Amino acid sequence: MLDFGNGPVLLITFGLLLAWAVRALSRMMDARTMDSRLPPEMVGYMDNEGYQRSQEYARARLRFEAFSETASTVVLLAFLWGGGFGWLDGVARSFGWTQTPTGLAFIGLLAAGGAVLGLPFSIYHTFVLEERFGFNKTTPAVFVQDLIKGWLLAAVLGGVLLFAVLRLFDVLGPEAWVWCWLVYAAFLVAVQFAAPIWILPLFNKFTPMPEGELRAAIESYARANALPLSGIFLMDGSKRSTKSNAFVTGLGAKKRIALFDTLVTSLDQEEIVAVLAHEAGHAKLRHTLMLLALAMVRGLALFYLLSWVLRWPEVFTALGVQPSPYFGLVVFGLLWTPAGLIAGAVFNAISRRLERAADAFAARTIPSPKALAMALRRLAVDNLSNLRPHPLTVALEHGHPPVLERIRRLEGASGQED
Ligand SMILES: [Zn+2]
Repeated sequence: MLDFGNGPVLLITFGLLLAWAVRALSRMMDARTMDSRLPPEMVGYMDNEGYQRSQEYARARLRFEAFSETASTVVLLAFLWGGGFGWLDGVARSFGWTQTPTGLAFIGLLAAGGAVLGLPFSIYHTFVLEERFGFNKTTPAVFVQDLIKGWLLAAVLGGVLLFAVLRLFDVLGPEAWVWCWLVYAAFLVAVQFAAPIWILPLFNKFTPMPEGELRAAIESYARANALPLSGIFLMDGSKRSTKSNAFVTGLGAKKRIALFDTLVTSLDQEEIVAVLAHEAGHAKLRHTLMLLALAMVRGLALFYLLSWVLRWPEVFTALGVQPSPYFGLVVFGLLWTPAGLIAGAVFNAISRRLERAADAFAARTIPSPKALAMALRRLAVDNLSNLRPHPLTVALEHGHPPVLERIRRLEGASGQED
């Protein structure tokens, strides 16, 4: 058990509880803003029964999130106060390795513990919650494959990055933060290039759009707007869920747009081109590059702040461990939790702005902006989206503006800013 009068431990505890409380408040507000009346924008497109079902789904998700967040906060605090970090540090050091591999082992064990504890939640989410609302298509075999691939990918990519960062800090001390950031920035760029070619195909099949009327319509749109794309692909999203989506990946001329197969079956041709036009807006307006630059700026701030934690010896003695860069990284992660909520809100606000810009691009380049509004409606109906999220939840968690706001803007009514 750690000493209760202990500054850094109290600070971490307070931060974790604060972040938990803010998220709990946002969930409570979200539950309260639910309204049994069908929004006017959806009249004629969604029946009352469907609307009630979307609210029921939103409530079920809120309960699940509230429970899993509370459970993980309790476990983390119990581990912290019970001296778990000191114990795990002892385990990692008992291997008798030098500092960098010891650090990899420590963080690896911590991550593995977290993954194992998170597993029941993930199983419940897929096979109970999503199943109950008819979305789940994931078979146990696909679930296990995803899990193994995900863990291996995290171990390889995360392991390489972590090794480089820990090694730099071990050799150069806290001053290594600039070098670490350079490594991190290079890593982000490499992942952007690798994502469409190596990473995403590990999980899904991407096939070029088959010949036909839809492909011809897409190609004529792409030609008319000189899209900087290397291809438009169909993705087998139906392997896991009936929910549909579309996205753009890659950088420069290697950008690709992927449309879920579920999207292509639930929308008509004009609507599919409208969704594609939105994604094309992200590609044309260089949004991937902007988000990458933003991630780099955030990384710069994080490594700089980390170097401060590494110069703070009290934090290590307070937690019952010997000073080390790897433990500094973990402590920094804990201390950063509440600030991360604010950073996330800033990131989401920027993302929502980019989404509006992509909607506006689509509206300018397709024959009728109403087609995109229709597509958004249909997706909201199919995916049982929460149509009335509370502004606090939107601020904290949503990278997209609320769908009704997007529909209103596309259909020419004055949309509200969030
Ligand atoms: Zn978008």
